[in-house]
Amino acid sequence: MGDVLDLLRDSYLLDFFDILIVAFLFYRLYLIIRGTRATEMFVGLAIMFAFSLFARSLGLLLLNEIIVKLQTIWLIAFIIIFQPELRGALSYLGQTRYFRYFIRHEEPAAIAEIVRAVNRLSRSGLGAIIVIERNTGLKNHIETGTRVHGKVSAELLETIFTPPTPLHDGAVIMRDEEIVAAGCILPLSRNENLAYTLGTRHRAALGLTEESDAFVIVVSEENRQISVAENGTLRRRIDIESLQAELVRVYGLGSDYVEMEIPPDLNPTKTRAAATSTSTPTEPTGPTRGK
Ligand code: ATP
Ligand code: MG
Repeated sequence: MGDVLDLLRDSYLLDFFDILIVAFLFYRLYLIIRGTRATEMFVGLAIMFAFSLFARSLGLLLLNEIIVKLQTIWLIAFIIIFQPELRGALSYLGQTRYFRYFIRHEEPAAIAEIVRAVNRLSRSGLGAIIVIERNTGLKNHIETGTRVHGKVSAELLETIFTPPTPLHDGAVIMRDEEIVAAGCILPLSRNENLAYTLGTRHRAALGLTEESDAFVIVVSEENRQISVAENGTLRRRIDIESLQAELVRVYGLGSDYVEMEIPPDLNPTKTRAAATSTSTPTEPTGPTRGK
């Protein structure tokens, strides 16, 4: 055993793992801060760090000393300015799939609330876009709308998407159990292969998933269909049970989780889908023109 450890220490294997772990941590950090104001500050720090290396390699000790001092001040400023984001990042860490396994097994209330709201919005023929933020920060998009910071409830979601309320246009952005903002403008997808019948609501949902890992639910005002977008793919005609299963996955519950029963009266798509046998087909964003 000791020999193996010595060998590991002498070889480059440890350095390799060291670099791998640091690269992974930086990558995760980048995913968390991407799209937030913190990105610019990080770029600033990276530039200072590069300057300090440069000054040290040239033997410019005084310059190096000043840069190192500035870095310390910068770090403290960063912690003060981004205290809410850091708190969010830490609590996010505690809620990731790996840690959540140790913490809780019950279903987050948000899932049932979203399912209930989407179901009722679809029944009432009200259009909606609900974005669930994941690793990629959506701060830039949140800032296009109005801050809500309210605990999610079906009633709140329905109220937001019921015209003529001022926030019914645009998307709701959620983080965990919270509705962070409403009336948000999302980037439209430039995918030219999309079905021509898809309007801006669906294109906006898809557009966001082309540049982030967000999960987006769309309710069509025209045909009351529910769709979900993820990783640049739109899946249309999703039934309520599939939506619930998707949300369980998105909220990262363990595989030992037992799905909740959806009462039939809450599930209009079940009867509709049974009649038309078109439940949850997966529609890739490939050519659908002329369908
Ligand atoms: P539906 O099936 O509900 O008719 P659609 O895909 O055909 O949806 P439109 O009919 O063009 O799309 O829907 C317009 C609505 O979509 C707008 O009133 C607005 O609420 C929403 N929307 C349009 N563009 C955006 C955008 N960039 N970001 C967020 N929401 C948007
Ligand atoms: Mg339309």
